[in-house]
Amino acid sequence: MSFQSALIKWYQKNKRDLPFRETKDAYKIWLSEIILQQTRVEQGLPYYYKFTEQYPDVYSLAAASEGEVLKLWQGLGYYSRGRNLLATAREVAEKYDGVFPKQYSELIKLKGIGPYTAAAIASFVFNQPVFVVDGNVNRVLARMFEVKQAVNSTEGKKILEQIANECGDRKRPALYNYAMMELGALVCTPANPACHQCPLQPYCMAYAHQTQKSFPVKEQKKKIKQRWFYYLMLKHDDKIYIQQRRENDIWKNLYEFPLIETKEKISDKQLQKELKEIGIRDYTISKTYSHQLTHRKIEAHFIVSVLKRKLKKAEEEKLYKVTIKEFQKKYAHPRLIEKFLTDYLKSNQ
Ligand code: SF4
Repeated sequence: MSFQSALIKWYQKNKRDLPFRETKDAYKIWLSEIILQQTRVEQGLPYYYKFTEQYPDVYSLAAASEGEVLKLWQGLGYYSRGRNLLATAREVAEKYDGVFPKQYSELIKLKGIGPYTAAAIASFVFNQPVFVVDGNVNRVLARMFEVKQAVNSTEGKKILEQIANECGDRKRPALYNYAMMELGALVCTPANPACHQCPLQPYCMAYAHQTQKSFPVKEQKKKIKQRWFYYLMLKHDDKIYIQQRRENDIWKNLYEFPLIETKEKISDKQLQKELKEIGIRDYTISKTYSHQLTHRKIEAHFIVSVLKRKLKKAEEEKLYKVTIKEFQKKYAHPRLIEKFLTDYLKSNQ
């Protein structure tokens, strides 16, 4: 039996039942792929249900506002995915009459669709012989062929793409891709691959040499930058001030409290001085909230102060005043802020 057949046979017996695998609807498959980028299935699945319920087709999503989409996306992180989701829904609705293009070369031009997602849609929906290469597939192939080049280097990526193309089952691309990804997720896992259950064991070089732990090879990651956020939760008339984040970063267009952002931790004295300059004298400061992003670690503190008068520069600085409840319900905001608010509301009940 070829390794492709062994793999597909294993998949048909062992696959998880996932709703987006039971459909050929390009919209739903695209949605699931965007949601599952950098996200585990268990975490992404409730979002898939929420989105398909609220926006059952590409037209309903295209008609949504960015605020509504980001609100529904809240908690999933990597918010550029939510913004791209809307941009692509609008493009498909307007430029392609609501029908996703079939060709990989067209799909990849859409916002938020990279080589992996384009290959996934082209094969899962249209059964085109293009082969996905994601973290799971990379791991399986790097072990099977003992690929010495780092999977995150340009050279390594090229080699793995080539191997993926040469190995792919051209007659059953959708099934083959699903099977490969499932094997990486369930059997050929990063820490302890279950080789005794693996249909690819007879074909696997890493198994033959017992070198599973040495593959995939990875290049040292970039140094993680640290940032310090001092969020100001300024209360006035039972409302708080918020603003929309305009920085061109992953939280762009989300809502947050006014912010003092620094590259280094500042001393209590320095913070006191900064706050005094904007008229804040009485305040409490929260514990540290840490938030880890891909290349950045944020250490956040929340400064809570009750203002006697309304903030002078509120309009000039485009600050809104809303109740905490409204903020939580209507304004998409980073999980870091939601964590703080949950603690804050608990201790102020
Ligand atoms: S035999 Fe082991 S290392 Fe090789 S592909 Fe299967 S699970 Fe991965």
